[in-house]
Amino acid sequence: MLNLILLGPPGAGKGTQAELLVERFHLPHISTGDIFRAAIKEGSPLGQKAKVFLDAGKLVPDDIVVGIVEERLSQPDCQEGFILDGFPRTIPQAEMLDRYLAGADRQITAVINIDVDFEVLIRRLTGRRVCRNCQAVYHIVNKPSQKSGVCDHCGGEIYQRQDDAEETVRKRLEVYRDQTAPLIAYYRERGKLKTFNGEEPIQVVFDQICLALEEQNG
Ligand code: ADP
Ligand code: ADP
Ligand code: ZN
Repeated sequence: MLNLILLGPPGAGKGTQAELLVERFHLPHISTGDIFRAAIKEGSPLGQKAKVFLDAGKLVPDDIVVGIVEERLSQPDCQEGFILDGFPRTIPQAEMLDRYLAGADRQITAVINIDVDFEVLIRRLTGRRVCRNCQAVYHIVNKPSQKSGVCDHCGGEIYQRQDDAEETVRKRLEVYRDQTAPLIAYYRERGKLKTFNGEEPIQVVFDQICLALEEQNG
């Protein structure tokens, strides 16, 4: 059983590594950002509530996020493990996750903390492109799709997220520093933290994560 959390600032490569981890370990990928964007696209009540926060680069309130994640984790496909990407993002979210898992007699296997310098993050986020259909992640310089504007995996349309405009990116990095970075100490104290240099090439970061998970599982 692998219950993984991907932690790191916006642009660190969480979604990119999640795609590779899913291929290798066949675990469900739970991205709270993807859940909110899908709800916004549908125009559901959740989407209407979440949109204001995403557009401003702010966090959606904890009570909304936690309810969604608990519901998702209780589904059958998550019982053999999961990859959480972009959750938790605040100390209260982490505490609520610990309580929820303890109640189900489960716990986090490891927190994969991806470390990248702030200036590099700005270039990554402003150059990021995403598939509208399958959410695959690209970069105009670092990881272009084979055919411009078309997803390699599903042929879907590739677009730029509205919150990847430079001004919102700076706001999101501030929010990360103030509200999410304290989770590094939280998980270190609990013996769960594994930190990786996210400035290495995508495949190198992935190999190092797999090595660390193998060592841990003996
Ligand atoms: P996050 O989910 O942490 O916000 P993403 O996985 O979406 O980050 O990656 C942000 C951008 O950086 C994407 O455009 C992606 O293609 C690119 N990227 C991800 N990992 C690397 C890496 N190791 N080296 C260079 N570019 C990367
Ligand atoms: P990135 O990895 O590039 O920061 P995400 O797709 O993870 O982007 O998140 C996009 C936005 O969705 C965030 O800026 C925030 O508004 C909202 N969001 C996602 N996950 C959470 C969370 N765990 N708590 C609060 N807000 C969240
Ligand atoms: Zn696609």
